[in-house]
Amino acid sequence: MASQVSELSSESVAFRSALDVVRSVEPRVADAIGAELVDQRESLKLIASENYASPAVLLAMGNWFSDKYAEGTVGRRFYAGCRNVDTVESIAAEHARELFGAAHAYVQPHSGIDANLVAFWAVLADRVEVPALGRAGVRQVNELTEQDWAVLRRQLGDQRMLGMSLDAGGHLTHGFRPNISGKMFDQRSYGTDPTTGLLDYDEVRRIAREFRPLILIAGYSAYPRRVNFRLMREIADEVGATFMVDMAHFAGLVAGKVFTGDFDPVPHAHIVTTTTHKSLRGPRGGMVLCGPELAAQVDRGCPMVLGGPLPHVMAAKAVALAEARRPDFQTYAARVVENAVALAEGLARRGASLVTGGTDNHMLLLDVSGYGLTGRQAEAALLDAGIVTNRNSVPRDPNGAWYTSGIRLGTPALTSRGLGVAEMDEVAGLVHAVLAGTRPDAGPDGAASKARYLLDRAVADRVAGQAADLLANHPLYPTIDLG
Ligand SMILES: *Cc1c(COP(=O)(O)O)cnc(C)c1O
Repeated sequence: MASQVSELSSESVAFRSALDVVRSVEPRVADAIGAELVDQRESLKLIASENYASPAVLLAMGNWFSDKYAEGTVGRRFYAGCRNVDTVESIAAEHARELFGAAHAYVQPHSGIDANLVAFWAVLADRVEVPALGRAGVRQVNELTEQDWAVLRRQLGDQRMLGMSLDAGGHLTHGFRPNISGKMFDQRSYGTDPTTGLLDYDEVRRIAREFRPLILIAGYSAYPRRVNFRLMREIADEVGATFMVDMAHFAGLVAGKVFTGDFDPVPHAHIVTTTTHKSLRGPRGGMVLCGPELAAQVDRGCPMVLGGPLPHVMAAKAVALAEARRPDFQTYAARVVENAVALAEGLARRGASLVTGGTDNHMLLLDVSGYGLTGRQAEAALLDAGIVTNRNSVPRDPNGAWYTSGIRLGTPALTSRGLGVAEMDEVAGLVHAVLAGTRPDAGPDGAASKARYLLDRAVADRVAGQAADLLANHPLYPTIDLG
């Protein structure tokens, strides 16, 4: 036994010890953490927004940095004793600037939504508040008269935003009513071409000319193609809009130099936001990149819209960004796209219908109506067979945003596990087999249901078995053995 213990990797020792400490206080939590590893190992994860962060990233988060308040920015804190937080925040920002070629990086946002709020308020401050202060001849809002303040508040709430429509793959935080952004901005959206499914830049230009937004936003969470950010910037310039890109989904492809030139948002946008946990493969969090013009306003994110920074997460962001600067991350990013293309081709060859006919990023949108299913039925049937996806609207979806007609599939997570192009074809076969083996079931009233379905048990068992074999050949966190 002694020799077995000495063979444990340092990562196994670290996680085992940490779990022992947790277990001594609340064993159910330690058990849940262990169970989550088992679940993640055993599921064929095609969720386009998820990934697996490295053990170094995970370990950088679990420590006493969590105990520290660090409101403010590096070297300008409202709390004493922040020198080590300054160190990690500076390193994270430095890696972000170098990796993405940005003049300024703000690494405090706790999530993608928070990063967007920071960006929106930075632009509102720069373009609405600062000019108003100038007109009033004062330096800060507290010096405005009650009347000028009332006017400014109305102006801040009366600005326009133009973003991609939800059913074309845009994100709720790009000015849609259920989100705070939709309550802040008067929003219009641009969609995709009804025949090709592709972004129609002429249409974006037409709407922008008519609507004249303060902010033109590009970025998506369910669009399987690249966006030409140079063209989008030209449109923004033409109508005097600030051009913002939310690269939450595809930041890893920018970091990994798959999206370059016109497809790299950083040189073209005034401000770029992202998550750090999707294709970028870092801890859950967000980030804002910008030029020098907006830097000071962006740095006001906390306490403007953010709670105190999370130094432990900034430490993990620094580690993840350091990883993303290594050459092997470029290999990873290239494989993510190769895998998505292979998955798309494998599905198309089996007769499946893909929105835009394929992909050139990390995700694809499968229109499941050809299988006679709703997205909800497809998602549930796939899960029964051990394949984790999520349902998603397709453009002009007849089934709405709840049932939907689509399934979104992404390759960042499986690529992190080491699956390649050959395995993607196998995965395409499994997905197709489940969908072809599923049919809608009638509801209690005998009418066809959008939620109920019948999945052939033999198909489900066969697919689950094959999926388990694929995963066993590509172990997740192979250096971690919890015993
Ligand atoms: C995921 C996503 C977000 C939100 O990120 P959270 O970290 O969940 O807040 C914002 N914008 C886009 C485009 C996204 O895909």
